[in-house]
Amino acid sequence: MMAGGSPRPPGAGGHWRFIQHLYFHPASRKMQNPELKFVVLGTGGTIAGAATDASDNIGYLAAQRGIAELVRGVPALAEVALEAEQVAQLDSKDMDHTVWRTLALRCAFHLARPDVAGLVVTHGTDTLEETAWFLQRVLAPAKPVVLTAAMRPATALQSDGPQNLLDAVVVARAVGAHGVVAVLGGQMLGARDVRKVHPYRIDAFSAGDAGPVGVIEEGRLRRFRAWPQHGAALGVAVLPTDATAWPFVAIVTSHAGASGAVISALRAAGVRGLVVAATGNGRVHRELEHALLEAQRDGVQVLRSTRCGNGRVLDAETPALPSADDLTPAKARVELMLRLLAPAG
Ligand code: ASP
Repeated sequence: MMAGGSPRPPGAGGHWRFIQHLYFHPASRKMQNPELKFVVLGTGGTIAGAATDASDNIGYLAAQRGIAELVRGVPALAEVALEAEQVAQLDSKDMDHTVWRTLALRCAFHLARPDVAGLVVTHGTDTLEETAWFLQRVLAPAKPVVLTAAMRPATALQSDGPQNLLDAVVVARAVGAHGVVAVLGGQMLGARDVRKVHPYRIDAFSAGDAGPVGVIEEGRLRRFRAWPQHGAALGVAVLPTDATAWPFVAIVTSHAGASGAVISALRAAGVRGLVVAATGNGRVHRELEHALLEAQRDGVQVLRSTRCGNGRVLDAETPALPSADDLTPAKARVELMLRLLAPAG
């Protein structure tokens, strides 16, 4: 293992100071082209979390361990040519647009390197699904970008991070791998489908109706269907340098007793896009719907998703408020923000 480095990319900004490179020499190069490397980008989360007591699974601090240490903690990874780079170090509940931009730029930088075959990104579980859809829409990579995370901190008795990291590298190395996917709990989930469905259990992620793309068993990917395809990349150039220039897009929920008051407040605060987490099959309380239609008439973009957690919004006819199809409310917010940054045609 030796220290290395690469040129500072444009836009890496203050996060550059966190960036460190470690190159892991493969002990065995039989299994792959010796010229090809994989880059593991660390952003923090519980996978890098630490508690003072090994039996404490909730009273820990996220984002305490560096990515090089996490990689070193998986002995099997010594067999793979890996670089490790710390892009950020945060609890993903605090993910923001500045870190997203830095991450997208670092991904784009490494994806463009001919000697790099794919990327793994370690992340917190809370907003992993948003980052997955964000990276897919911005990069639509021809190489794999595999997000992984953990529900237990690195110090836990039953820490799931090391296995998830190893499985993520297995997926990044798989023949034909491309696009953004997530690997957790032995499953590979598509960027559009992945969602956190449990706040505590180790099997906290689901791909909804779509199901997993495959499973990872003892170092092998068993794929059930084709690698997901999601259209062209928007490109990192659409992402504003200035965090305040990202469009303000909010999520509102339809529920019993909903009113238009929250829409009035958001409009007064300068909202440019609204995602409504509607009840059932995209149905919105009449008071809230009235306010949303008014906002839409005045130029605020609206997308209607379902708060059901699974399935999609099915419309009988062209709806007054456009549907987000099968995107969860959190992903629909990412989608709407990117549409505002890069209007189609
Ligand atoms: N709050 C943590 C995070 O999202 C939770 C986790 O990673 O499991 O960073």
